[in-house]
Amino acid sequence: MTKQTPSTSPENNPSSIPKLRAVLNGRVITPDDAAYDEARAVFYGGFDRRPALIVRVADAADVSHVIALARERGLELAIRSGGHSVAGHSTTDGGIVLDLSEMKGLEIDVGRRTAWAETGLTAGEFSAAADAHGLATGFGDTGSVGIGGITLGGGVGYLVRKHGLTIDDLLAAEVVTADGELLRVDAETHPDLFWAIRGGGGNFGVATRFQYRLHQVDTIVGGMLVLPATPEVIASFVAEADAAQEELSTIANVMTAPPMPFLPAEVHGRLIIMAMLVYAGEVEAGERAIAPFRALATPIVDMVKPMRYPEIYPPEEEDYHPVASARTMFVDAIDRPTAETIVDLLQASSAQMAVAQIRVLGGAMARVPADATAFAHRSSRIMVNVAALYERPDEAAEHEPWLTAFAAALRQGDGGAYVGFLGDEGEARIRDAYPASTWERLAAIKGRYDPTNLFRLNQNIPPATEGKTTDHKERSDG
Ligand SMILES: Cc1cc2nc3c(=O)[nH]c(=O)nc-3n(C[C@H](O)[C@H](O)[C@H](O)COP(=O)(O)OP(=O)(O)OC[C@H]3O[C@@H](n4cnc5c(N)ncnc54)[C@H](O)[C@@H]3O)c2cc1C
Repeated sequence: MTKQTPSTSPENNPSSIPKLRAVLNGRVITPDDAAYDEARAVFYGGFDRRPALIVRVADAADVSHVIALARERGLELAIRSGGHSVAGHSTTDGGIVLDLSEMKGLEIDVGRRTAWAETGLTAGEFSAAADAHGLATGFGDTGSVGIGGITLGGGVGYLVRKHGLTIDDLLAAEVVTADGELLRVDAETHPDLFWAIRGGGGNFGVATRFQYRLHQVDTIVGGMLVLPATPEVIASFVAEADAAQEELSTIANVMTAPPMPFLPAEVHGRLIIMAMLVYAGEVEAGERAIAPFRALATPIVDMVKPMRYPEIYPPEEEDYHPVASARTMFVDAIDRPTAETIVDLLQASSAQMAVAQIRVLGGAMARVPADATAFAHRSSRIMVNVAALYERPDEAAEHEPWLTAFAAALRQGDGGAYVGFLGDEGEARIRDAYPASTWERLAAIKGRYDPTNLFRLNQNIPPATEGKTTDHKERSDG
């Protein structure tokens, strides 16, 4: 195994917080520090956990030291890049948070159209820097999401039909494994690990840097289009999105209109489609591609216009910490009766806000073979995420049955799951994220790189022991 060794070695492995502080280039935050409460907060408001220490690492050697301390002391280890884990996996009660958010190095090679990015960068930060050269890599729909977590899960965003998933642009990575070694992985070096981190999440080590392919994405035609959410308009929207050129990727949020100033008062409380559209191509062709959506009904709000790509990420409030429960699934079609079901179920929710988010897939994402990466849902047509947002974490029990009923009503085929949107839903749902053969291969690779399951605070794939496969329910590939 080719290994690049960072500056840690068994002799200088830190076994206590003072020893860790002494060797670290970054900083340690403990409950005594004034910065502790802010540092322990994650994006979602429902996870009020108190880590023993939060380590803001500065480099791969720091990562290795933190791994050594967690191993030595048997402490739970949470890995955090952007802190947007839907399941609350980037924080811990009593363990260590390894926080990469201060590692924001970015080297863009404009000539080669590639970039090496440290994993503390957010999608928005990366996109703004790449846009200065008219270049982009596709991430998700939210600028504050960390490139660390979204890349390891797959990455479904506004360029998914034109350029594929984020992992389809991943050329190489640097990963510190459970034994503290820094590995450079790509299609030739540690190809098994490179395959596994493209969809297998944080199971295999701490990714410190990613190398991405960049695409020329200059001016796009994009933005928000708000339409009335009747079953007819929802089903027609999905049909248009499916029939559109690959340059166009859409996200349709079917939801109750919030009382926001950009929405006319008369629609507040009514069901709307708050759609986000991105046409990554020539402006005139983009306007033509958007026209059928504008014609579905009289738009309530139309902010779709030519813009620079990063403008699709609107500014976010730093102290926004929503409390939510959600379900994710893949479906084959949303016809009129399915759209009626969606409308009925949204109207039945007692949550402060209920949303069904519909993402039509296909295009470049679907052309990658299902076994080329650990994300295998290449032929899935549509991803649906259903969420209830509410005020207090103790309201969860009220909304869970509604979510379960929603997921059951929409279920088509084997359902499946996108690991990036899974909550803390148990082992069976993690298995739904992977076909059986993918799961077996991931468990075997986990067994080689993390045999003691040090990286277990994630959508966990337990390590297979040598010669023994993990027990699994049979599912077909794809
Ligand atoms: C508001 C919102 C919008 C979203 N939109 C999209 C979207 O459009 N498309 C999409 O595909 N996903 C989307 N997601 C899901 C998102 O991709 C995942 O939640 C992702 O894990 C978040 O990454 P993060 O680095 O911000 O999270 P973190 O909470 O920091 O990390 C989540 C988990 O990923 C692993 N991890 C993170 N960084 C590393 C690392 N450097 N090395 C090893 N393991 C690591 C760890 O297991 C960690 O627990 C969205 C989530 C939210 C909350």
